[in-house]
Amino acid sequence: MKTPRQTPEITLVGAGLAGSLLAIYLARRGYRVTLLERRPDPRKTTGPAGRSINLALANRGIAALEEVGVMESVRPALIPMVGRMLHDEEGRLKLIPYGNKPHEVINSVSRAGLNTLLLDAAEATGRVSIRFGQTVTGLDFANRQVVPQWTRYDVLIGTDGSASAVRAAILEATGGRLDEEPLGHGYKELSIPPADGGGFRMDKNALHIWPRGEYMLIALPNIDGSFTVTLFLPTQGEESFQALTTPAAVHALFERRFADAIPLMPGLVEDFFANPTGHLETIRCEPWSFEDQALVLGDAAHAIVPFHGQGMNAAFEDCSAFDRCLSDPDRPWNEIFAEFEKRRRPNADAIADMALENYVEMRSTVREPKFQLKKDLSFRLEERHPGRFIPRYSMVMFHTIPYAEARRRGAIQEEILDELANRTASVDDVDLVRADRLIADRLGTI
Ligand SMILES: Cc1cc2nc3c(=O)[nH]c(=O)nc-3n(C[C@H](O)[C@H](O)[C@H](O)COP(=O)(O)OP(=O)(O)OC[C@H]3O[C@@H](n4cnc5c(N)ncnc54)[C@H](O)[C@@H]3O)c2cc1C
Repeated sequence: MKTPRQTPEITLVGAGLAGSLLAIYLARRGYRVTLLERRPDPRKTTGPAGRSINLALANRGIAALEEVGVMESVRPALIPMVGRMLHDEEGRLKLIPYGNKPHEVINSVSRAGLNTLLLDAAEATGRVSIRFGQTVTGLDFANRQVVPQWTRYDVLIGTDGSASAVRAAILEATGGRLDEEPLGHGYKELSIPPADGGGFRMDKNALHIWPRGEYMLIALPNIDGSFTVTLFLPTQGEESFQALTTPAAVHALFERRFADAIPLMPGLVEDFFANPTGHLETIRCEPWSFEDQALVLGDAAHAIVPFHGQGMNAAFEDCSAFDRCLSDPDRPWNEIFAEFEKRRRPNADAIADMALENYVEMRSTVREPKFQLKKDLSFRLEERHPGRFIPRYSMVMFHTIPYAEARRRGAIQEEILDELANRTASVDDVDLVRADRLIADRLGTI
């Protein structure tokens, strides 16, 4: 078995968000890294049709970026979002804060901008070489070679995203298990341009949501004054992507359900038909590695639906967790891979479930008075029991408590909130003595 010390070079497949960050971690440990990426160098091309696509960066992602020393370069590119700005069908607005403290915000960041910054930082280590335009289709495990390049590798990590070729090779070689759970809903990226003369057409410090029960529209700000808008809709049915085949049908849906967004989106119909409809699914697979040769990490190991804004954050946390598995330089690779999977799998499963649950919350539950009451109550209980009662959303977004633990504690807290909220309509009328007792009884040992 090879050990990290005897393996000076690591090959990564995929120079997206996880691959570029992992390359920095590995370079810091003294490895030479070769990154194989199928796309052309994004620093020399513009994005797809010039669109800017953004993501929400939260504490777990930030913790990893801080760990490798790039966070200060990322910070100027962030737009903090303090809460969800709900748009109802009459165009009325309501802000629901994400957290209970001023620093509890999530950050909108350009996907391409962040990727570029990480690629630059990886190259700046002097140990990382990136080969663009290299599509990997498989692995020849017998000869430790990448197909079709036929380049040899010592150790290879697949950071090649949700349709991972490395995962397919590992599962074929091991006879492993692949679970693909389609959501039955897809997405379409649209856009709100900057206001005439510059500036934002809506509050820039919020994640805007038009929750409509079975589906929703969301918008996140970009630093150029635009918003990236995403329509999430069932793939089939009366109100679905399948039904939106003409400009008139798209316009009619927006007139009916998202009327206040229409004046903000002069390119709505053009964008709708120019941009692809994305597919959403949860992917679970087992095992994540093959012997001492190959591992998958990030979306390649566990792709999730985007409704908790955690896919990239989880992938970054994977990189940090993998780095920690490397601390013993004499440990063989198969043990390192096994330890990584043991640590991360329960957490990957937990965030996959919580992301699915959050879709229902964002498109539907968020509109109910009970939701606001429970949110207010959870902040009140957090103030009374700091460190013991932490709203589940906050545990996921503003802490680095393992996802599985956040899910476990969250379920207990939800029961407490339900019991308290079912007896009252206002947070001021909640029986706090009873609340304290329930928390002491059920969360006392945490
Ligand atoms: C609509 C949407 C919104 C999202 N919003 C958020 C959000 O707000 N916050 C958040 O944290 N996450 C979000 N995510 C999830 C996030 O995009 C992913 O979790 C993240 O990109 C995973 O990073 P990755 O590096 O594992 O995969 P990717 O970013 O997909 O990178 C994979 C890389 O591998 C390359 N590649 C693929 N196949 C091959 C091959 N065969 N050979 C060579 N190279 C290959 C690709 O070109 C790419 O560069 C969202 C996802 C979607 C779909």
